Amino acid sequence: MKILVFGSLNIDKVYTMPSLPMQGETLTCKRYEVHVGGKGLNQAVSLCKAGADVSMAGCVGTDGDLLVEFLRSTGVHTDKIQRTEGFTGHAVILVDGNGQNQMVMYPGANWEITPEYCDKILDEYEAGDLILLQYETTQVGYLLRKAHEKGMLVAWNPSAFVPAILDEPLECVDILLVNEYEGQCISGECAPEPMTAALLRRMNGGAVVLTLGGEGAVYADAGGMVRVPAFCVDAVDTTGAGDTFTGYFLHSLICGKTPEEALRTACAASAIVVTKPGAAETIPDRETVECFLRAHC
Ligand code: ADP
Repeated sequence: MKILVFGSLNIDKVYTMPSLPMQGETLTCKRYEVHVGGKGLNQAVSLCKAGADVSMAGCVGTDGDLLVEFLRSTGVHTDKIQRTEGFTGHAVILVDGNGQNQMVMYPGANWEITPEYCDKILDEYEAGDLILLQYETTQVGYLLRKAHEKGMLVAWNPSAFVPAILDEPLECVDILLVNEYEGQCISGECAPEPMTAALLRRMNGGAVVLTLGGEGAVYADAGGMVRVPAFCVDAVDTTGAGDTFTGYFLHSLICGKTPEEALRTACAASAIVVTKPGAAETIPDRETVECFLRAHC
């Protein structure tokens, strides 16, 4: 099975300052950091760290070298990533001493994905291959339909949630991965059981994975539902928890683990991530996750 993550690549520019600027105010900040990100990149890294052979597709601008280099050094295949003339997608994030933040997102090259580029990439895949998508780029609906028509295994993390997601073809999805907020917005239900049931009804068979933050995660398909608690850790930064979970869960499942085992492995990987600040850079490798599982189970 070939594995393709088709999604966003972002540069996060983080400015740390004692307080956030008021309207019209100019402040000098004491710290500036650049981080790699984007849900597509994070999930490709997670799959790769879990042990999968992964290719990433998506677009970066003329300033995107650091993202491609980061993926390459992690072991993700980057030859399908397209360069565009403009800027790479990026976020400007202002953080104050109390952890409060303000953010501006510029989607840049992530919104320059065209149907022609999608077709060119999908031509290299066939029935039975896995595609993983999110919702930070253009053409997600097109990719869901085309990949499904080809008979690929379609995994979708409809994040970050925007109302347009409600119009996308859920019936093309084989494995839907949502957090509580996304699940609620799409299904209109609040509790895990009716929520997963409502989502499964809108899909064409398949499975739903619902993550519940510090409460763990749930897997549901036509055969029933299984729930696994989160590991008890001191969480300092939950950024990237869901992306780490997604990569580890999918890799475990395609390696033949049961849904319950896959949930447990994914909960372990994401528990490790929440104990450290940052996202893509903190996704643990398989040995670290296995060691954590041996220590905690
Ligand atoms: P997202 O980051 O997409 O909002 P969640 O917040 O549901 O997703 O987190 C994904 C997974 O990360 C959870 O299912 C859980 O396994 C793990 N996780 C998140 N927060 C914590 C926490 N405070 N303690 C332990 N594990 C956590």
